[in-house]
Amino acid sequence: SLDTYVDLMVKGQAADVKISPRACVADRPVEPCSLVIFGASGDLTTRKLAPSLYNLYLSEALPESFVILGAARSEMSHEQFQGMIKHALEGMDLTRWDEFASHLYYKQMDLRSIDSFHELSSTLEKLEGKHGTRANRIFYLAIPPSAYGSVAAMLGKAGLSGEAGDGSAWSRLVVEKPFGHDLKSAQELDRQLHEYFNEYQIFRIDHYLAKETVQNVLIFRFANAIFEPLWNRMFIDRVRITAVESLGVEKRAAYYEEAGVLRDMFQNHMMQLLAVTAMEPPAVFEAEPVRDEHVKVFRSLRPIERDDPSKNLLLGQYGPGVVEGKRVPGYREEPGVKPDSFTPTFGMLKVFIDNWRWQDVPFYLTSGKRLAKKLTEIVIYFKNVPHLLFQKVLDEDIIANFLTLGIQPEEKINLTFETKYPGAKVCLRSVTMDFNYQQNYEGPILDAYEKALIDCMQGDQMLFWRQDSVELCWAFLDPVLQHCADCDNLSRLLLPYEAGSWGPDAAQVRIART
Ligand code: NDP
Repeated sequence: SLDTYVDLMVKGQAADVKISPRACVADRPVEPCSLVIFGASGDLTTRKLAPSLYNLYLSEALPESFVILGAARSEMSHEQFQGMIKHALEGMDLTRWDEFASHLYYKQMDLRSIDSFHELSSTLEKLEGKHGTRANRIFYLAIPPSAYGSVAAMLGKAGLSGEAGDGSAWSRLVVEKPFGHDLKSAQELDRQLHEYFNEYQIFRIDHYLAKETVQNVLIFRFANAIFEPLWNRMFIDRVRITAVESLGVEKRAAYYEEAGVLRDMFQNHMMQLLAVTAMEPPAVFEAEPVRDEHVKVFRSLRPIERDDPSKNLLLGQYGPGVVEGKRVPGYREEPGVKPDSFTPTFGMLKVFIDNWRWQDVPFYLTSGKRLAKKLTEIVIYFKNVPHLLFQKVLDEDIIANFLTLGIQPEEKINLTFETKYPGAKVCLRSVTMDFNYQQNYEGPILDAYEKALIDCMQGDQMLFWRQDSVELCWAFLDPVLQHCADCDNLSRLLLPYEAGSWGPDAAQVRIART
């Protein structure tokens, strides 16, 4: 209570106030509900959703009454489905598995048949009766994007998108990226989703936004008074946003050949990282005001020159190389990739935000596969000191301050600044003030999918994409994508790089410069 807190403050022990892990996982009650996962036999379900749901169960964040119903075309019994999910939890504490498994069911479906959806409806009613979940339903589309529109329509036609008028039962639809492959298809998908679902029922997931440290960027900026006054063109020279990985295309070549790095990373995750870095403070920390501020950033993006995007864009494709001590093939030798593929696996985009705060401050967005290591971070480079009074006694330049907001692999905040190296001579040394999430907090740190699932159960759309943002980001990238659709243009833009390096040479030059 406040009294206890004040009491502790008086005793100087405020730092010892502990918040229970459960309170941090689910800060509001989660209503009983059923989660229907379409595509329950796929990679996303086994690799991400199953471990997240089980972890939420272990932290007692799921409601007491819940049902998880897997649905796909494959034939499977409930027991086989449970076995598949158990297999996906390898390495986790399985002491509570049997209780958890009693909430898991499977339904084989023909996603093109309305009868199959009517059957789904009656299956749900039976399970809801058995588990007491009322008719609160989440439909999670973990299926190929080409099926999103038709499954949403089938749900609507079978009466599954409706909600009780008195608010006693709700229905939500979770859609995974990609939200279309360009502006036109994104608009068409939206039209299909809206045929039976309202915008407040649609949860377009971006697990990057649900990462603890990405949310922490907003807390860092808007819950501390000392940084925000510096967070603008007067004090910031440039910003670097990087999300690179050492993995290659893995088993997703068919998808990646179509998408490439621009659609896979830039239209979604990179834009969200840009938004949290550049947005204005919302009046209140609620879904719509926060998402309004994202939209304002996207609306202020300076268009990239349609005829010659090369001034702002650098693309690359990995060749063979050594990654983390292991020899790996080049992109064109990966299974499922065309031997003459021009799909970019690396991109660097120089972006400007034309508004009062950011005029002429470049934001360098970089993403790619098969780079030296997995790294996601936002680095704010402050301007140099206005007058170099040490220049006469120093052999080297002063390094301007920079602030690193680390997201992966380490969740951290570092501020780098200059100090005097001990000794008679004036020598400077850069040092960092480090804050590391893992070392400073006990208890569970929510995985991004866990956070997204809980938010969806609570009906909080803050960390989900709103359609206006989706369309603005496509409108920004569409001219570049159209330019790259021409093989001659793309072959001119695409630079090779060695797997395990930091990208094409030209990128290294620019990275070094930043
Ligand atoms: P998979 O191909 O591994 O799984 C797709 C699932 O959908 C399968 O269970 C398949 O099962 C079912 N399915 C239903 N209809 C069709 C159909 N017409 N054609 C093929 N399969 C169908 O895909 P992922 O799990 O990797 O991805 C699912 C969605 O999530 C995709 O839209 C993807 O873009 C998105 N996504 C995935 C991520 C990941 O890490 N995997 C990350 C971000 C987004 P069955 O054959 O039994 O019906």
